[in-house]
Amino acid sequence: MAIIKNDIWKRFIFFVTVLLIMLIPVSGVSAESERDWMTNEEFLERLSEIVDASDGKVETDVAGYSTQGNEVISARIGTGDQVLLITGSIHGNEKSGGEALIEILEYLGTSDSSFAQSVRDEVTIVAIPRYNVDGLEIPQRQNIFPWEEVISTYPHLEGATPAWYYNERNGGFDLNRDFNADLNYEVVAEDLPGHTNDFGFFITNESQLLRNLYLELQDEFGHVEAYADIHHMGTPVMNKTGEDVTIAIDYPPLGPDDSTKYDDYPLLDQDRSKRYALAAALGVKEFSDKEEPGVAQYIHFQERDFPGQARSAFALNGTATVLFEMPGQQPQFGYDQDLVDRVENGLWGIISHMADGSIDNLNGDDFLTEIPRYWTNNITDMRDVMVRFTEEEQFKNDSDARLVDNHLATLEIYENQENSEKMVKHLNGFKVLLENQRENKLIGQEAYNRLNSDINLLLERWENNLID
Ligand SMILES: [Zn+2]
Repeated sequence: MAIIKNDIWKRFIFFVTVLLIMLIPVSGVSAESERDWMTNEEFLERLSEIVDASDGKVETDVAGYSTQGNEVISARIGTGDQVLLITGSIHGNEKSGGEALIEILEYLGTSDSSFAQSVRDEVTIVAIPRYNVDGLEIPQRQNIFPWEEVISTYPHLEGATPAWYYNERNGGFDLNRDFNADLNYEVVAEDLPGHTNDFGFFITNESQLLRNLYLELQDEFGHVEAYADIHHMGTPVMNKTGEDVTIAIDYPPLGPDDSTKYDDYPLLDQDRSKRYALAAALGVKEFSDKEEPGVAQYIHFQERDFPGQARSAFALNGTATVLFEMPGQQPQFGYDQDLVDRVENGLWGIISHMADGSIDNLNGDDFLTEIPRYWTNNITDMRDVMVRFTEEEQFKNDSDARLVDNHLATLEIYENQENSEKMVKHLNGFKVLLENQRENKLIGQEAYNRLNSDINLLLERWENNLID
């Protein structure tokens, strides 16, 4: 009897144990998904834990103060003579940069691995994980610096039109337009409001503090090797497959390639920036244990020219610069561990290829040819999208899809001939065809929206050609 009882008891314990084991991962998963983006307090707490655990390897500093007087913290690790500067959340509604940087600082600050040791020996990483601290609190893209405060800070701007990148509704500036390749530039009323194709004005404390940090690093090392800036965007899909873009990477928008506008900046080296961008794309795959589809080039039309972005201003001063754009902004998109891992792995790509010296042996052109685009640059891109829309049965009849593609095939010929007149004429004809198919319900809404917006974009560019 005793033996049987014992047996039942054992079975009971076994059953309870199995039940508990089943429950543990379930509660673990739900706790994980309830995790939110770090608050500033949580960030400061984790950073100070990392500093303590790093035994002097991670150092922090107040890089400066936001326009509203809050501390903007920088962290530094490594003793190498190649400097990598990194910022997260230059836009306050784009939060993954700080999360990934905390992970990197923790690993490099506490690991004894030979990889960590070689990174610390070869590279000095200086990071501002939570750059736009005031915008992050709301969250909003801009900082907080209402124009009346601008005028009390700079009385000589009284009566001037606010800078074009000042947002009236949010009472602040897009920090990533407030940079100037002349690092000693001081704002004057005659230069306002400026233009998207002009430099920014270093109006905000935030742009000034990053500029100052950059100058200090230039003084200390002679040269700031690289700069990476972490952003979030919409949620685009790949042209050919329709799969989600999981990370988009870019080099500085200082186009077009044959522009003479930047001839006075001999240090600008777009090929080098492309090598660093390629290293980031490689890192997303090399440092992941998953497949990692959806690694893409960020939108970069030939004509794209944004010299007021931090990455452009630093590139014109000889730094290789890389932009990350992650899908989904805050607060709409919650914390996503896979996404944060992807940012981290992209940064590891840059860091590791710097540490072992292999970054200089990469071919920058591979970034353009090996990493897929998801935006429409030309008619060929539109035909790629059409193949997918046909497979997805976005057209009522095969003949409707064929009609659209035949029209695109004709456009492709004129595009290759660079015949602007014919392009404009036939692009307009294509618009009429699309409109007709929509009215007669021969085309799905998704295909119509995409093709129509692509056509408008290309039309604008070819009409400009006609004027030139
Ligand atoms: Zn952004």
